[in-house]
Amino acid sequence: MQLYQHILLAVDYSAQGDYVASKALGLAKQFQATLSLVHILDNIPMPDTNYGTVIPLNQNTDHDLLEQEKARFTSIADRLQVAKANRWLIWGVPKNDIVDLANRQNVDLIVVGSHGRHGLSLLLGSTANSVLHHAKCDVMAVRLQEN
Ligand code: AMP
Repeated sequence: MQLYQHILLAVDYSAQGDYVASKALGLAKQFQATLSLVHILDNIPMPDTNYGTVIPLNQNTDHDLLEQEKARFTSIADRLQVAKANRWLIWGVPKNDIVDLANRQNVDLIVVGSHGRHGLSLLLGSTANSVLHHAKCDVMAVRLQEN
């Protein structure tokens, strides 16, 4: 029996992203699972676009920032050899849209990085914390060091 069949790696382009990615890739290989990749675009203005909209990677737009995001995302997906159908660049709110995508795509393990925040920053909420609390599937929080 395959313990996990569909793993979703959530990437935020942080310095420790490669470390989180290596864990997800290792698990996908070990369990012979499908690996999907998601980045939620929450840092560029996208007028007339609804949260949760999937951005097509194979169509050019005249939005320079969006093209840069697409190039950056595609280069990570290529490096991890993620199948084109399993690449998700979504305009939205990370903590909501990662979980929504996992539900829609029948993901059984989400992999995120976690800074293990506490105190005020935990109260303000981290993506990892929210995914952990709202996901319907298992979540692996890869512990990251602050420096
Ligand atoms: P944070 O709680 O913002 O420090 O992020 C913790 C983890 O959540 C990151 O290591 C990623 O796995 C995931 N994450 C944060 N922001 C995004 C995003 N915009 N898109 C996809 N995943 C994200």
